[in-house]
Amino acid sequence: MIVCVEEARVEAELVGGLLACPSCREVLGPWGHARERVLRRVSGDWRWRPRRTRCRGCAGTHVLLPDVCLLRRQDEVAVIGAAIEANVAGEGCRSIAERLGVPADTVRGWLRRFVGRTELIRALFTRCALALDPMLGSVLPAGSGVADALEALAVAGRAWALRFGPRPVWQIVSRLSAGGLLARNTSSLATTWW
Ligand SMILES: [Zn+2]
Repeated sequence: MIVCVEEARVEAELVGGLLACPSCREVLGPWGHARERVLRRVSGDWRWRPRRTRCRGCAGTHVLLPDVCLLRRQDEVAVIGAAIEANVAGEGCRSIAERLGVPADTVRGWLRRFVGRTELIRALFTRCALALDPMLGSVLPAGSGVADALEALAVAGRAWALRFGPRPVWQIVSRLSAGGLLARNTSSLATTWW
């Protein structure tokens, strides 16, 4: 489950009973911590132990991941997003990898996954954008499957920011996709609360 990156705020929401179970919408309570993780961020490696929660309704446990992450990815979502944007703008894998300090195979893996599901991403984020902003007009085609998917992410990001306040767009993407933007299994993408 993806939450905002400000730990103190998430902790206050958790203790205050303001976080809802993604499965049944009942209240989540604190339930210890998960194992330590390392995230490669632009600012350097970040180590932390994610909060674990337990639902008071269905008793399911959920790990809270900050929205700077994607599920099972070691790199910050902003870095992954920058690689996707650069590639759509015409930059090659190797050059992106060197610039971002990430192995070329890793960048190739992100791009392959993204390109393989552009229609799903476009459809999901267009739905998100309309749910957030019912006054939104139609989302115009950007010219290719990948560009259309990126455009839908941007539109959903703007709709989110209008409603909840500004936030880096890739962090919004992480939240709206429940961290599953590049997950192996697309069912996590399809079963978000949208
Ligand atoms: Zn539950």
